[in-house]
Amino acid sequence: MRIKNYVRPHTLEEAYRIISENERAVVLGGGSFLRLSFKEIDTVVDLQDVGLDFIEEKEDAVDIGSMVTLGELERNDVLKKLYRGYIPRFVGIIWSVQLRNIATVGGTIFPKWGFSDFITGLLALNVDVHLYKSGKMKLEDFLKTKIGKDILVKISIKKERRETSFQFLRNSLYDFSLLNLSLSCKKGKDFKLAVGARPGVAKPAKKTVEFLNSVDEPFKHLKRATGILLSEIEFGDDFRASGEYRKHLAGVLFKRALEEVLNYEG
Ligand SMILES: Cc1cc2nc3c(=O)[nH]c(=O)nc-3n(C[C@H](O)[C@H](O)[C@H](O)COP(=O)(O)OP(=O)(O)OC[C@H]3O[C@@H](n4cnc5c(N)ncnc54)[C@H](O)[C@@H]3O)c2cc1C
Repeated sequence: MRIKNYVRPHTLEEAYRIISENERAVVLGGGSFLRLSFKEIDTVVDLQDVGLDFIEEKEDAVDIGSMVTLGELERNDVLKKLYRGYIPRFVGIIWSVQLRNIATVGGTIFPKWGFSDFITGLLALNVDVHLYKSGKMKLEDFLKTKIGKDILVKISIKKERRETSFQFLRNSLYDFSLLNLSLSCKKGKDFKLAVGARPGVAKPAKKTVEFLNSVDEPFKHLKRATGILLSEIEFGDDFRASGEYRKHLAGVLFKRALEEVLNYEG
């Protein structure tokens, strides 16, 4: 990565003005992905002085600023308790300690990468994304919406009593997931389910959720639920795995996740 101009604004207004006035200006999170590019970047807008490095617990939600690193998410005491440590658990599988100490929440959500474990993990919870220009929207809607130049300011994670499960398979710890899946429910009802690294970006499985919510003992209907899941989600090929293999994996990961969320006793 070669940078022509480096700027470090002190307010979000200033940061947004710079990126909106200069077509070739980009926001800098931790720089861990940007630095892999061989392109010359005209202007980099570093957000580290804007005050987005916070984790704030409120009565009904936890707000996380976009400059918080994945490493901070792993070590934070509030998040270690929220959903019994679900977030630190799935964040902890992302590559290495060194990377997690650099990569930020903003740089991990805003680009909507297909391989993302972080986005899939969050989709099992009720999460709002706050953007400087486009405002607040549900994470699910953000993933479907074409967003132009904008800045991810923070995410807001609703505090609920949910049993959660994050499942994934990768060829080695230092590789991207071949497939990942997240599931949660409240005492066997009100399910949330998403599949990612398909290899497309994570997608909520709405029809499967509708079915799971309509039956009394979901595990007894595993076969039918799996059938719905495999027909509503598209799986594609890439150099890591074929769509057919991913489809098979989705059934396996779904079964494990359903067992985990239904067997939780607490
Ligand atoms: C070697 C390697 C392995 C990885 N493995 C995994 C993995 O296994 N699982 C996984 O889920 N992820 C993985 N990642 C992705 C990682 O978790 C981060 O998402 C990624 O590195 C970017 O983080 P960053 O904060 O450094 O972003 P940057 O590199 O700074 O930015 C990335 C992009 O996001 C934009 N951006 C940054 N912050 C904002 C903001 N606040 N608002 C708007 N746009 C913004 C930038 O302009 C840029 O386009 C991996 C990354 C690397 C480099």
